[in-house]
Amino acid sequence: MDAAKKKPVMIGIIVVCFGAAAFITFRGRGGVKPVVIPEDATVWMKCVNLKCNGGNTVYEMNLREYRAFQDEHVADDTTPGLICPKCGKPSAFEAMKCPKCGNIFVAGESGRGDFPDRCPKCKYSAREEAKGKDQPDKPSKENKPSKPVVDELE
Ligand SMILES: [Zn+2]
Ligand SMILES: [Zn+2]
Repeated sequence: MDAAKKKPVMIGIIVVCFGAAAFITFRGRGGVKPVVIPEDATVWMKCVNLKCNGGNTVYEMNLREYRAFQDEHVADDTTPGLICPKCGKPSAFEAMKCPKCGNIFVAGESGRGDFPDRCPKCKYSAREEAKGKDQPDKPSKENKPSKPVVDELE
């Protein structure tokens, strides 16, 4: 065998290997790409200052701006309120829109121990609905006398 004849084959193998490595690197970068927030994405905000429209001031803000604000306060125990554009107080918080009645409210407004996404106006909660589907037959106290029932709703 002549060594000179093997050379082009070796080069060919090296080229293929480099190509594969580049392809894998490219694919890898694509896989770990963080979720990009669309430029026009918005988040509902609600001012909870009772002196500001009775605590019912709602507005939309750019989601990227809001995420940047959250990142600034990531070391804090709780994210402080944003400056409300209407009253100028740091009392605006991320809110959600009720899919049933369109009411805009801050998560957890219905009180502690309740579903945070329960609408304080029409009492609809998407989480409660989802939970109800998981448990088609709710355990009732009358039907299960042998097992102790822990009532968490009190
Ligand atoms: Zn306000
Ligand atoms: Zn509602």
